[in-house]
Amino acid sequence: VMRPVNDRSEFNKLLGDIRVLHSKQQPRHILVAGGAGFLGSHLCERLLKLGHSIVCVDNFSTGLERNIHHLRSYNRFSVIRHDVVDPIDIEVDEIYNLACPASPPHYQADPVHTMKTSVFGALNLLELAARTGARIFQASTSEVYGDPLVHPQVENYWGNVNPFGPRSCYDEGKRSAETLFYDFHQRYDVEIKIARIFNTYGPHMRPDDGRVVSNFIVQALKGQDITIYGDGSQTRSFCFVDDLIEGFQQLMATDPSFIGPVNLGNPGEFTILELAEQVIKLTGSRSKTICKPLPTDDPRQRRPDISLAQERLGWQPLVPLSTGLEKTICYFDRLLTEEAHEWVG
Ligand code: NAD
Ligand code: UDP
Repeated sequence: VMRPVNDRSEFNKLLGDIRVLHSKQQPRHILVAGGAGFLGSHLCERLLKLGHSIVCVDNFSTGLERNIHHLRSYNRFSVIRHDVVDPIDIEVDEIYNLACPASPPHYQADPVHTMKTSVFGALNLLELAARTGARIFQASTSEVYGDPLVHPQVENYWGNVNPFGPRSCYDEGKRSAETLFYDFHQRYDVEIKIARIFNTYGPHMRPDDGRVVSNFIVQALKGQDITIYGDGSQTRSFCFVDDLIEGFQQLMATDPSFIGPVNLGNPGEFTILELAEQVIKLTGSRSKTICKPLPTDDPRQRRPDISLAQERLGWQPLVPLSTGLEKTICYFDRLLTEEAHEWVG
């Protein structure tokens, strides 16, 4: 029955339903590079549920078998242990490039390999896209804005990045990858989609990931001191993983003329001290906060302007920080309990 659509949220819901229907009707062969990682494993699960066939390509440097174990029962799911620094040649209709360590201690452990992963990884996957005609998604980052002088960050801000420091391998690697995406689109008509992802958290993060949300939750659950770097007045905006994956889908479903880059993140901005207080409250922990030195070039503030995503994708995050934190705390609580039992057993 045809009837007028009255409000924007109803329109967006209808649009979402049509997209799901569309993707259900056309199962595709999709390569997810970095599919065993935090975000990649959620993406693989989502795409499998939509009926697609997934090849997860991962070198398992920060990714975990545990993240994808539950997907092994799908015969449409396969895993190739491979480093994207080397070329790969398989027949696919779509590519998501998420392969890259995302946590500062992990990406700084082997900075040369991080840079190679971003640049050669993007190059190899773009060449595959050019050969197969696959649409390709790039997981870019808010780090392209560096320590931003414009707040909140809009996509046409060029950023304030140090090219010569401990964060540079990641920030400049991701910036170079964006350039390669742009060039392959201009020169070879490759269909590209670039998402600039802001701090995202949720289940499937490693307990030793090193990023702030997992660190604070694990410390609170173990009754250890909560490590605030600097005075904790720096800010971040935290997006729950389910919201982000929804944004990936909506971006990938846009018209070929829309290539981004587009910010995906939650505009709710919190100081690191406020985050610590929330985690202590929600876990009921007796942990105390302690101050540690602020890492070099740590950005002072970060908040996405998501007007473009709202306008072009009809997307915005729906999960408030407290709800997302509760779900993540449940995940880590179960994980730590299981690990303790394995230890005793
Ligand atoms: P993660 O470290 O959990 O996942 C990265 C995955 O890529 C892991 O499975 C790892 O083993 C794999 N990988 C790393 N180097 C590889 C290589 N050379 N070859 C093949 N596989 C490789 O990180 P994440 O949080 O899931 O991030 C996924 C992507 O999203 C990354 O590209 C990251 O830069 C980007 N991103 C994430 C966030 C966030 O807040 N989570 C923010 C901005 C951008
Ligand atoms: N941070 C902190 N304690 C920790 C881990 C991180 O205070 O145990 C701070 C870090 O200095 C930064 C913010 O939290 O200001 C976010 O850090 P994260 O590594 O999660 O992400 P990024 O700096 O890449 O945004």
